Amino acid sequence: MISKPVLKAREVLDYCGIEDPATISLPDLIIYHNGVVNEIPLNNCDGRMVMKNGKSIVSLNSNIEFPQKKRFVLAHELGHILLHSNKEATFSDDYSTLEAYKHGSQEKEANDFATELLMPEVLFKNACFKQKFSPDLIRLLADKFNTSITSTIYRFIDFGNHPICIFFSKDGKVEYHRKSAQAYYKIPDRNKLNVPTDSVANEYYSQNRIYKKEDSAQQIYKSTWFELGDYEADRPMFEFCVITPRYNTVLSVIWEK
Ligand SMILES: [Zn+2]
Repeated sequence: MISKPVLKAREVLDYCGIEDPATISLPDLIIYHNGVVNEIPLNNCDGRMVMKNGKSIVSLNSNIEFPQKKRFVLAHELGHILLHSNKEATFSDDYSTLEAYKHGSQEKEANDFATELLMPEVLFKNACFKQKFSPDLIRLLADKFNTSITSTIYRFIDFGNHPICIFFSKDGKVEYHRKSAQAYYKIPDRNKLNVPTDSVANEYYSQNRIYKKEDSAQQIYKSTWFELGDYEADRPMFEFCVITPRYNTVLSVIWEK
């Protein structure tokens, strides 16, 4: 069954005649749906919205570093406008609501809407066809769809062609993980525990190390993040870290070549 947010996004793409989602002007789409966008410095959140009587005012944090991230925030707010406008509402969005791990809430619905609008399932699956995961592939896809690296990684978990697993941490502690349906790794319970000492994420937290683009696929071992079976030999895996210093968060992507 196709969920309501996904259907809504497809409806918008359809009635606006959008063939290439990379060219969507989000501020225009919001104006079209009775909203206005103000770009101003915000503290501790990326986007905020007030809705009343079918009209909305969206505030976008002007301190966000990347235009692609701004597009995602606006697409998320447009999701609230189109899906949750039946009452007066105020939304305040930061990393905890804009990351795709929220379940069963209006935040998850707004993210599902934004993701389908910016990276439609069919186009994304075609772009990933027979492609192995690598940081370069994510950069290519992000370029193609004009999306943030983070939102592209989340899309890849669901529709990529290569199993990956992600661990999201803040201030050195793991907050949650997600994996592709085909990633059969045993994940120990790390919730609220420190990132592994031999992980690339820990190099950032303990030494402030951020690898350059060309070195962003760092070799680790399977045992760094996963539990090994009783007789299983350890083997090399890779970790790619997406670091957001503003929130002191790391998104670690783990995969096998
Ligand atoms: Zn939200």
